[in-house]
Amino acid sequence: MSDCLFCKIAAGEIPSEKVYEDENYFAFNDISPQAPTHFLVIPKKHISKVSEMSDADNTLVGGLFSVAKKICDDRSITDYRLVVNNGAGAGQTVFHIHLHVLAGRAMNWPPG
Ligand code: AMP
Ligand code: ZN
Repeated sequence: MSDCLFCKIAAGEIPSEKVYEDENYFAFNDISPQAPTHFLVIPKKHISKVSEMSDADNTLVGGLFSVAKKICDDRSITDYRLVVNNGAGAGQTVFHIHLHVLAGRAMNWPPG
């Protein structure tokens, strides 16, 4: 999508602190980190949010977890929180599906 911030980041049109890239995925540090480690994993394909994905996207979206695990394994990070906000009311501000990966501090529950 031409007007999507994360599509532009994945395409390298807007700079980011890249932490991982392959054919289908891109991961980069969050610009406003909420923990010592806070990066986002996105599919290069534009999907706006979980509630808009189709069953055909199941494998692609499931792969976000594999990428998160790989990056954490590579960094010897064993404990981390994975977050997906769906919809503005749930805190989603960028409408390109993304998996937050947070680590490096104690996490509370319930989240705010
Ligand atoms: P969400 O609120 O779940 O939609 O998460 C969007 C995340 O994107 C927030 O944590 C923002 O800090 C982050 N963000 C927004 N713009 C950028 C950017 N240009 N580079 C990296 N992260 C960004
Ligand atoms: Zn997009």
